[in-house]
Amino acid sequence: MAETQKAKLVIVGAGPGGYVAAIRAAQLGSGVVLVEKNLLGGTCLNWGCIPTKALLACTEALVMIRDADEYGIKVADPVPDLKFMVERKEKISEQLRKGVEQLLKANKVDIVRGTASLASPNQVKVETEEGEKLIDTEKVILATGSEPARLPTFDFDQPAILTSTEGLELTEIPKTMIIVGSGVVGSEFATIYNGLGTKVTMVELMPRILPTEDDRVSQQMKRILGKKGIEILTETTIDEMLEYRPDGVKAKLSSGEVLEADKLLVSIGRSLNSADLGLEEAGVELGKRGEILVNERMETSAPGVYAIGDVVGGILLAHVASFEGVCAAENAMGMDAVMNYNVVPACIFTEPEIASVGLTPSKAEEQGTETRIGRFMFGGLGKALAMGKGQGFIQLVVDASSDKIIGCQIMSAHASDLIHELALAIQMGITADQLGRTIHAHPSLAEAVMEAAEAAHNRAIHAAPARK
Ligand code: FAD
Repeated sequence: MAETQKAKLVIVGAGPGGYVAAIRAAQLGSGVVLVEKNLLGGTCLNWGCIPTKALLACTEALVMIRDADEYGIKVADPVPDLKFMVERKEKISEQLRKGVEQLLKANKVDIVRGTASLASPNQVKVETEEGEKLIDTEKVILATGSEPARLPTFDFDQPAILTSTEGLELTEIPKTMIIVGSGVVGSEFATIYNGLGTKVTMVELMPRILPTEDDRVSQQMKRILGKKGIEILTETTIDEMLEYRPDGVKAKLSSGEVLEADKLLVSIGRSLNSADLGLEEAGVELGKRGEILVNERMETSAPGVYAIGDVVGGILLAHVASFEGVCAAENAMGMDAVMNYNVVPACIFTEPEIASVGLTPSKAEEQGTETRIGRFMFGGLGKALAMGKGQGFIQLVVDASSDKIIGCQIMSAHASDLIHELALAIQMGITADQLGRTIHAHPSLAEAVMEAAEAAHNRAIHAAPARK
């Protein structure tokens, strides 16, 4: 006989969606159970956000040392130790995992290790090491996340074929690497391995890299990556894999060209973890991509069952998963919360970084909104030049009739930090006039925000006036 436990709320999956939902629910009442089949923290903490940023911090240091003579420092050739870097990354993930576990325990969340599925909307079945366990529950939140998408063109059992997961585990620096897909993940891995000295070739199906970003951002990033020595092949696919060796691959491109590399990393998106969860039996409806369908309260089609994070197939970002987790937890615990996706900052950790929030100029135009664009180049900013980081620009999209800021795109050092001033500005309905008339400290990168706001009124001090 399977052991039966009682709960008020069971959450399946302990990524940034699930563990945040568990803590928020536990703040509102007792009887919260969190089921996880692998590591606490999910993709974000173990195979995504944090490990990539840990490795990027290492390559950033390496590039800085390599370029030290630009700062008047003579150093001998630095030697990267990828094994050490990977161990460092693992220690950071472990420290954060322990932190999450402590927080869950302090909030009296019951952590169950095992693989969960729905026996019904009010019963969760968990396969644990000790056997099957049943949990009778009033509510369920599904937060099972996603995995790297795999194309049948590639044999993922071959050691030279990597997804982002294996791309974080290499202990020897490959001399050459093909990266298939130039989205956020592909571009971050290109930055990591190019920094380590690998000759990287990116293969992209679409006409431009970072195809979902603003056109200006993607054009400038293409130039910057090209200058770093990354080869970019757009409107190109891999038609056929000609050879797999333990130490490399040979691939035939749609152009007819044959490419060889030590490793080939596939970063073509994510597949959503909605299979084998007993969803059909429980009456939970799925969309065409396997995403769990939810409304703005994160409710699925089955009463009492909520879903959040990557598995609902919306914006696949950790902070979105967490906010959806808070929304679902509050609703499951008797409150009335709704999700609003109007202001979602999104960052790409290339060098320089890219960050955006709200509408791009072309999206605003599609919606029929008349806009003014306030643009400022970091090459005109004292702090950026002092740091040796004069590349990039900031672009504010301003509603011409109300003067409210409705979007922003930044490409610069620390863009991922700068973007939040704009997120708040959009959230609070701040106008370009108000932002431009807010004193910003000198010298700081944030002065570019003020200058761009002033540029929207053709009043920027450190930029030539727009031609009449
Ligand atoms: P996940 O984090 O995927 O967690 C789901 C959890 O559910 C997993 O732990 C899994 O083991 C568990 N699970 C699945 N099925 C079951 C089951 N049946 N029973 C029990 N447990 C189960 N986002 C950002 O915002 N910023 C970034 O910089 C960023 N960088 C990224 C870099 C990479 C390389 C990748 C791959 C992703 C990155 N992301 C980033 C995306 C981010 O990691 C995800 O959006 C986020 O982790 C989604 O959270 P989640 O809780 O929905 O799912």
